[in-house]
Amino acid sequence: MAEDPKDWDIATKLIRGGMARTPFMETAEALFLTQGFTYDSAEAADRRFSGEDPGFVYSRFGNPTVKMFEDRLALLEGAEVCRAQATGMASIHSALMGLVKAGDHVVAGRALFGSCRWIVGEWLPRFGVETSFVDATDLKAWEAAIRPGTKAVLIETPSNPVLEITDIRAVAEMAHAVGAKVIVDNVFATPIFQQPLTLGADVVVYSATKHIDGQGRVLGGAILTTAEINEEFYRDSLRHTGPALSPFNAWVLLKGLETLDLRVRRQNDTCAALADIIADHPKRPRVLYPFRPDHPGHNVAKGQMSGGGTVLAMDLGSRAAAFAFLNALEIVDISNNLGDAKSMATHPPTTTHRSVPEELRPLLGVTDGGVRLSVGLESLGDLTRDVTRALDQA
Ligand SMILES: *Cc1c(COP(=O)(O)O)cnc(C)c1O
Repeated sequence: MAEDPKDWDIATKLIRGGMARTPFMETAEALFLTQGFTYDSAEAADRRFSGEDPGFVYSRFGNPTVKMFEDRLALLEGAEVCRAQATGMASIHSALMGLVKAGDHVVAGRALFGSCRWIVGEWLPRFGVETSFVDATDLKAWEAAIRPGTKAVLIETPSNPVLEITDIRAVAEMAHAVGAKVIVDNVFATPIFQQPLTLGADVVVYSATKHIDGQGRVLGGAILTTAEINEEFYRDSLRHTGPALSPFNAWVLLKGLETLDLRVRRQNDTCAALADIIADHPKRPRVLYPFRPDHPGHNVAKGQMSGGGTVLAMDLGSRAAAFAFLNALEIVDISNNLGDAKSMATHPPTTTHRSVPEELRPLLGVTDGGVRLSVGLESLGDLTRDVTRALDQA
């Protein structure tokens, strides 16, 4: 084969990357719903387990359907290795835990997805890992927090729920100066609009539950990194702790990847248009969308993303107004998921960010009047009518 899949355009990688056909030459990716594998002889088993014969031995370590998903996502991201995980949280947890031991130090942005915040703030310290939270938009804060002994830095950009932007290149430079690894949670940007490995990140993590499935069906996650980092920090820990993705979910996610480019580009365009429409509504709600010039992180976003993404945040001034808006929506669902084909809106302080202590909320932009809107694949005309009517009633 003269074609090198690495040279393909994104759309082609998403359809053809990682495809491994069985001798039946099926058109669609095969679903290997099997826990384990068998061997022709005791000698063959010996060779397989020693690594001399490179096959599968157990689906906790690897599975042909899961491998197709891993290879396709790795090709898309430009990563040497992809390790599929059961959920996004399994990915973040394994990515962090694999890098640290007692006595090490971790720095993370303070505005993180709730469960990521819990892992950094509550879980790691139980094992003697010191952690610091910083204002992720402030490079001076990162500089002050990163120190010798810092082994991992966790960046979520754009962040949840108010889409704060962190300069990945600048933070990666500071982290690398002390030998720390940089993990980027790239869920909000998607692999289509931001490639953290090209910006200096060492590890990229996804919740595949979001845009990669994008159709509300399964949970999944992924860790993408170099062969060297995988070998040193993740190979054994992932084998022995078992956060493996189910082959069935991998199969669903493979089909999700096929349409990822189409879906998120359309969702991005609709979201960008809606952000302006909402900002221009007579009630003048505050709108946060990374590609709007009034977003505080606009310049950094333009420098590292090729689209503003599929999620916007707005502030309607009070909880009563936010609830009135949500309750008046007829097409958009009230739901805490994001990246889905169905548009979804949520009130972070009473749902996704409930566990954030009251006194921290203003710092994280979790305001009582806040609404996060994940824009789906419905038509811009219908969504405009729905959102405008809901704003009228808010
Ligand atoms: C949803 C999400 C996660 C967690 O993913 P799950 O698949 O729900 O475990 C982590 N980070 C971000 C930014 C998310 O949006």
